[in-house]
Amino acid sequence: EVRVRFAPSPTGYLHIGGARTALFNYVFAKKHNGKFLLRIEDTDTERSKKEYTEQIIRSLEWLGIKHDEKIVYQSERFEVYKKYAERLLNEGKAYRCFCTKEEIEEKKKNNPKWKYNRKCLNLSKEEIEKNLREGKPYTIRLKLPDTEIRFYDYVKGDMKFHSKDFEDFIIVRSNGVPIYQFTVVIDDYEMGITHVIRGDDHLSNTPKQILIYQALGFETPEFAHIPLILGQDKKRLSKRHGATSVEEYRENGFLPEALVNFIALLGWSPGDDREKMSLDEIIKEFSLERINKSPAVFDYKKALWINGKYISEKKNEELLPLVKEVYKKHGIDFTSNPNYLKILELLKTRVKTINEFYEFGLYFFKDPQSYDEKGIKKYFKKENSKKLLEKLIEILENTEPFTEEKLEEVLRSEAEKEELSAAKFIHPLRLAITGFTVSPGIFETAVLIGKENCINRVKKALD
Ligand code: GLU
Repeated sequence: EVRVRFAPSPTGYLHIGGARTALFNYVFAKKHNGKFLLRIEDTDTERSKKEYTEQIIRSLEWLGIKHDEKIVYQSERFEVYKKYAERLLNEGKAYRCFCTKEEIEEKKKNNPKWKYNRKCLNLSKEEIEKNLREGKPYTIRLKLPDTEIRFYDYVKGDMKFHSKDFEDFIIVRSNGVPIYQFTVVIDDYEMGITHVIRGDDHLSNTPKQILIYQALGFETPEFAHIPLILGQDKKRLSKRHGATSVEEYRENGFLPEALVNFIALLGWSPGDDREKMSLDEIIKEFSLERINKSPAVFDYKKALWINGKYISEKKNEELLPLVKEVYKKHGIDFTSNPNYLKILELLKTRVKTINEFYEFGLYFFKDPQSYDEKGIKKYFKKENSKKLLEKLIEILENTEPFTEEKLEEVLRSEAEKEELSAAKFIHPLRLAITGFTVSPGIFETAVLIGKENCINRVKKALD
């Protein structure tokens, strides 16, 4: 049975990179009818925060990445790690090191390449007992065998390291806290993990972990290290490149299914040029072999594009509660407008986020509070602007009934009479009633705003 895990350290929010690691693990598990487990790596009690743990769990839930079985918290497993450390000590595969931090740092300062000289490897039983009696602090170091370390990585291919490139590294610190390399191996073993799929920033940890697996006599799992995500400038993805935490996407009005789709295509592709894929399709097509070897390049515009596509294809009744929620945040009841469904329809093919239903739709509820700067110069501040706006008021007043067809007819015939193009009226009308230089069809928009409102707004634009 395939068993994989996502093992975040709760020292920050779930970001795009972490979400992608979780997603790849999840779809790999689902593809093979396996299990996807969640483990919170919170042994670093200073940097780990409960608030981050909660947010990571919430973000995964929102994305629809559901974990199987109970969440494993490393902070609850110190006894387990201790047991294994003791076993290694008893078997002579690890040893206590009483060298002080200062001693070690001094050596490293003089020679950054310095490797631990095994000073404490062969302490006699008596010396060790004496040190322990005196309460001398100690770390526990793994005694490395002289060996080549080979493994196959699904993304990187055959990997080869040698233990002589490492020192007898510490597995338990002097305060008794086991280091990451050690806890990961023990947990992956106890959780029955078959495939470790994680960011390639962990690639250099893998040979060390394999040495631990071997010391403990555990079988090593399979590995797949996923390349980094870079910004457009080929620098490591960071805040500068746009929203990075999953929570931010949610707040910015992304749909979880769209974000999942976008994330899945960061460094993976189905092998054809499909861009919009449901989670089920992704699961069906997923394979570790199809993960790109080179870093993924993050493109926020593409994320917006995919989100817009999902919104435009979503059912009105599914969109409505989300749109209502956004308006509610701003103190407006979206359904208070009798035309709310038409407004929803009109906007859904044009917005890229749920929030834009508010940003681009507010004029259906309220007079524009400001106008597009360039628009003002072009349509309100020209020589003949005043005349055109006055004429517009006349046009609006003369439109009876106030329907799309009638408004268009009246406006066009008036333009003809004045020997002007209809655009000469349409642009200022749009700016006056919406505040924008672009909008859905102007006649439809005007009718939805209503005759009185339109007249008042054009009058206001005249001031
Ligand atoms: N806790 C590690 C991290 O957040 C992941 C460990 C692993 O996947 O092996 O980077």
